[in-house]
Amino acid sequence: MVLKLKYGFLYLALCFAVAVMGIAKLGTAAVKTAAVPEKTALPIVMYHQITKNSARAGKYCVTLSELENDLAYLKEKGYNTITVGQLIDHVYDAQPLPENPVIITFDDGYETVYSYLLPLLEKYDMCAVASVVGAYADLFTQLDDHTLSYSYMNWQEISELANGNRIEIQNHSYDLHKLNNSGRNGAKKVSGESVHEYSAFLNYDLGKMQSLTEEKTGYRPKAFTYPYGCYSKESKDILKSMGFEAALVCEERVNYIDTENTDWMYRIGRFNRPHGISSAEFFAKMNIG
Ligand SMILES: [Zn+2]
Repeated sequence: MVLKLKYGFLYLALCFAVAVMGIAKLGTAAVKTAAVPEKTALPIVMYHQITKNSARAGKYCVTLSELENDLAYLKEKGYNTITVGQLIDHVYDAQPLPENPVIITFDDGYETVYSYLLPLLEKYDMCAVASVVGAYADLFTQLDDHTLSYSYMNWQEISELANGNRIEIQNHSYDLHKLNNSGRNGAKKVSGESVHEYSAFLNYDLGKMQSLTEEKTGYRPKAFTYPYGCYSKESKDILKSMGFEAALVCEERVNYIDTENTDWMYRIGRFNRPHGISSAEFFAKMNIG
């Protein structure tokens, strides 16, 4: 009986010791976690076209009221719009960012960016990023056609934006906004093409767009937005060697700002905003709400 009690006591003492060790361990883990700062989430929205006619809206075209609701929603939830330039200055140059950063991007350079988006950004005191295709800008500068259901911005409008403080201009290629263009999708490498040939190809088209944008606006883009989000494993190093500091893709994920390992800056994820769902429903996908 005494022996039993003795062992019972020992058993209890052992349990107590294990529990104390467990708590001590938890304490160390908590301290360790606190020492590593959490990375800031950076959600990015991708839009293309804007329409006032909901019958024309679709996967890549939102209505003007959906867009306004989105901006009001972000504002209400305490989000602050930043440009890709601000992100670059933060990641490579330790410049501060506002709390709850978010980036609003518009691809292709539709004229509705100038006519519809710009006044809304003024109203809500926000900014956005427009990635333009040089060949479209050249064509619509020549045509002088301003039919908002399909027109693209001309160089005068792009220059006005580039020199204003609401919409930052980035490179969406000079003329690679095509799928199956002699076997090539956007700016992706073609199978069988050497890295040297691929590099020369990107340097020619993207370089042409860099020079043209600089000539027309006085501003040299810092980021490349892959047409259709198509890229290859060789793309990043070529973009880097050309002086690009960031690249945007179409993969739907929230980015986490890492200033140590900056590879993610050449594969920045974005969420396509389709027509037909509420702002709350859409932003829930990127944990905003
Ligand atoms: Zn595009």
